[in-house]
Amino acid sequence: MKIGVLALQGDFIEHESMLRRLGVETQEVRLPEHLQNLDGLIIPGGESTTIGKLATDFNLIEPLRDFGREKAIWGTCAGAIFLSRDARRSQPLLSLMDIRVERNAFGRQVDSFEADLDVPRLNAPGSESRLYHAVFIRAPLIEEVGPQVEVLARLQDGRIVAARQGHLLATSFHPELTEDDRFHAYFLRLAGKQETIVACEES
Ligand code: GLN
Repeated sequence: MKIGVLALQGDFIEHESMLRRLGVETQEVRLPEHLQNLDGLIIPGGESTTIGKLATDFNLIEPLRDFGREKAIWGTCAGAIFLSRDARRSQPLLSLMDIRVERNAFGRQVDSFEADLDVPRLNAPGSESRLYHAVFIRAPLIEEVGPQVEVLARLQDGRIVAARQGHLLATSFHPELTEDDRFHAYFLRLAGKQETIVACEES
């Protein structure tokens, strides 16, 4: 399996390290041709307006949209914003996921925080459930999801911080900054077993 990491801006190196730890080949993506032969792509955290502007300058917007129609993409934090169809302000977006996000939703004073999340999809069947420790840095909130979108995790107050639409995944937080590799492993399952997932949803 080979997974690309969009390497225009942000913390792409941490994602690459986590993927290598899981035994996956990685490819830094800066140009459309770097998307060839990939099984999936991660869009890292950083600054979503900058990522969008650079993606426009490098002629990546349409190639990324085409890629996401068929293959798995995971956006973390700024990457989740870039994947969304609506960020409530004008900036380049891929508009692949039917989610509306609110940027910097947790206010200026509290730019960063950590929270333990219940994410049922990360627990192996039959095993005991284990909370997922999530790191939020000037994080967006997923404030609205379309009918095709599955909510994967919420904060204690019910606000949505992780969601999936078919093979597309969005998390408000940064799994690449922790030691817990379960979200990366989950994404690899989305990237590798798309047919199985579709079949499960239909049954
Ligand atoms: N606040 C950034 C944005 O709006 C996202 C922050 C992050 O990726 N950690 O794009």
